[in-house]
Amino acid sequence: MSFFNAFGSGNGKSGEDGRAAIVTARDATRRLELLDDFEQAGIGWIWASDAQGRLIYISENAATQLGRPVDALLARSLVDLFEVDSANPGATSDRPLKFLLAAQKKMSDLVVRFLDGDKGRDAPGQVWWMLTGHPKFGADGAFLGYRGSARDVTLDYERKLADTLAAEYDVLTGLANRNRMQRRLDSTLSAFREAKRSCALLMIDLDRFKQVNDTMGHPAGDALLKLVAQRLASIVGKRGEIGRLGGDEFQILLPDMEDRGVLGDLAGKIVRLISQPYQIADKHAIIGTSVGIAIAPYDGLDREELVKNADLALYSAKNGGRGQYRFYSDDLKDEEAERQELVDELRTALAEDLLDVHYQPVVRVSDNVVVSCEALVRWEHPERGTIPPAAFIPVAEEYNLVNALGEWVLRRACRDAMDWPAQLRVAVNVSAVQFAEDGFVDMVAQAIDDSGIAPDRVELELTESVFLNDSEATEQVFRDLKKLGVTLALDDFGTGFSSLSYLRSAPFDKIKVDRSFVDSCTQKEGNSLKIIAAILGLAEALGMETTVEGVEAFDQLQLVCGKGAKYVQGWLYSRAIPQSELLSRMQSGEMRIVPKGPEKFRPERRSMYRRVGVIHEDHRYEAIIRDLSTIGAGIEGLLGVCVGDQMVIDLGKGQLVLATVARVGESDFGVEFETPLITDGTGGLCTRHRVSPYALAAAGMPLSSLAGGFAMPRMVPTTPAKYIEVAVHSARAA
Ligand code: C2E
Ligand code: CA
Ligand code: CA
Repeated sequence: MSFFNAFGSGNGKSGEDGRAAIVTARDATRRLELLDDFEQAGIGWIWASDAQGRLIYISENAATQLGRPVDALLARSLVDLFEVDSANPGATSDRPLKFLLAAQKKMSDLVVRFLDGDKGRDAPGQVWWMLTGHPKFGADGAFLGYRGSARDVTLDYERKLADTLAAEYDVLTGLANRNRMQRRLDSTLSAFREAKRSCALLMIDLDRFKQVNDTMGHPAGDALLKLVAQRLASIVGKRGEIGRLGGDEFQILLPDMEDRGVLGDLAGKIVRLISQPYQIADKHAIIGTSVGIAIAPYDGLDREELVKNADLALYSAKNGGRGQYRFYSDDLKDEEAERQELVDELRTALAEDLLDVHYQPVVRVSDNVVVSCEALVRWEHPERGTIPPAAFIPVAEEYNLVNALGEWVLRRACRDAMDWPAQLRVAVNVSAVQFAEDGFVDMVAQAIDDSGIAPDRVELELTESVFLNDSEATEQVFRDLKKLGVTLALDDFGTGFSSLSYLRSAPFDKIKVDRSFVDSCTQKEGNSLKIIAAILGLAEALGMETTVEGVEAFDQLQLVCGKGAKYVQGWLYSRAIPQSELLSRMQSGEMRIVPKGPEKFRPERRSMYRRVGVIHEDHRYEAIIRDLSTIGAGIEGLLGVCVGDQMVIDLGKGQLVLATVARVGESDFGVEFETPLITDGTGGLCTRHRVSPYALAAAGMPLSSLAGGFAMPRMVPTTPAKYIEVAVHSARAA
């Protein structure tokens, strides 16, 4: 656009060689005419601004095209009239117009949006111009304003926008596509590395999406993905960017987020909301989701490492029984091999009859009479000790072992119950995989027959996940079971999608309120107690019985009874006990249990054997954590510890917890944490925050994520040690 050098610049070089109409510096009139021709021809327009950035000239045609009289534009600030379109990937500048004007820099081919009467960037009928401009300086060097040209580029630019949109966004859901997410992740991580900021990456994968797609058709699958995208958007809002990577895989990028408490809440919310039923056309669809989380810089410094680790966490969440979220941790790397080993050993244990069943009484609170017992499978591993069912049932489900396992437990429970008083029922857990298996009802009938137990003494505990299978087959199984005469209980109520329509349509006799609500019902914040009250009220209205699970302390018992609980199962009455112990307790005939336990509920302490660092003054000691809860720990291996001592517990991988010694025993001591730990999504505990690798780098450590080789910086003590380290043996003397 060199032509515009002529405008007001006075050197008039262009066209000097032309023969017909030579425009010379003296020929001011001709020059103006020529400019007029140019403007008339519509090739471009001319504009000029003053030193304050106000428009002092604009071609008549230009104003017409904008639908404004020239007078309405003159004297207006350019910044008020136009905006640089930096929101677009194809933007020619990402600097705001105000900045460019103030810098008095040349503008070349700058795409701007006309703002006057603005209805927002996404409104129809946008006008896009391309501006070119030169700063003009007076003889004294003073800035006089801009002289420039402009042309309308609306058509071209909108086409280009559409193209970049298609290249960057997923057409179906409107979310960012894989390309864009990759670029975003790369640029965010490298910028954040400079600024030492954190960033979380959530990988999301839908469970059972394929079934919906296969049974309801692709249009329904597409509609479902759109709804999922909307739900994700409603949760994430402006906090981050959501992408669809393809298929039923989504990803969320959350800048400046490292608090695992907040992230856990968010991921839990995603799992819950995505699991709510969807209405598509006139049908319902239900899917689930699993979430894996990795956080930069802790779990990865660059895209490859972060994505790989978020994927590992996702994979582990899926294996953990689906409908879960999980944070990345170093232990995940060998998980698959361990699962394979576990399932092989379980197969052997089942074949060699090495499993056991324990029974946990359900008590009527009004008179402490035991009305039924729940059969809970037990596995005492010769080397690994007791393996909890929550650790091997999901594996058994995945490796097709749960049918055999379930049948074994049912047969055993029916036989054992034949030795109990006749009024005592036996409850047996049924996995959704078993429920969906062909011949399930026949198997139940056969087990009942073989043992000789009255069918109405057998109670099957099902979870809501049985409804996720084909609904007609499910209904038929329900009808057949009812015909057999067994009692049906809905287990873990409140943790799944809790659709009330199922409660009304399926023939449940009983609801079991999940332990998680009881765990937290004594806490002031949260609405667990309200949820318990609501479930109890609902069951009452539907004429169903209820059992409240997991009551461990008197304060919980009082609260749930206050809300109308009539049957309770929990450690306050009894743990699950072997058949032999149950029989000896029953000798008196009718069985009653007087509740016995703590006044106040304290969160469970998990027994463990975990090496940790204890940092006190400028010393670092090695010690062993024996039990851990969200609020404290029991530690062994240090002598000389006093009540009230403050220390930092190093749980590894940058997890530091400030703790105060609350109790000192002969060989151990108990600490209380200043800030509670949080759940890692699958039963483990972790700290909300970690020491940043950036901070460690600043202290002289080479920069690497905590997922790699990592050790805390060495301490060089200047004072004598206060504590003495002693050896601890891994098997605790009973
Ligand atoms: P569930 O069906 O919800 O069983 C209740 C669980 O809560 C049992 O854990 C029980 O020991 C525990 N519990 C009961 N009262 C308390 C209490 O006051 N405090 C605490 N902290 N816990 C309490 P368990 O035996 O570890 O079983 C875990 C889950 O494993 C069961 O949850 C059930 O889903 C599954 N499971 C156990 N046995 C079988 C089985 O034979 N077949 C199938 N399919 N699943 C089983
Ligand atoms: Ca159960
Ligand atoms: Ca339960």
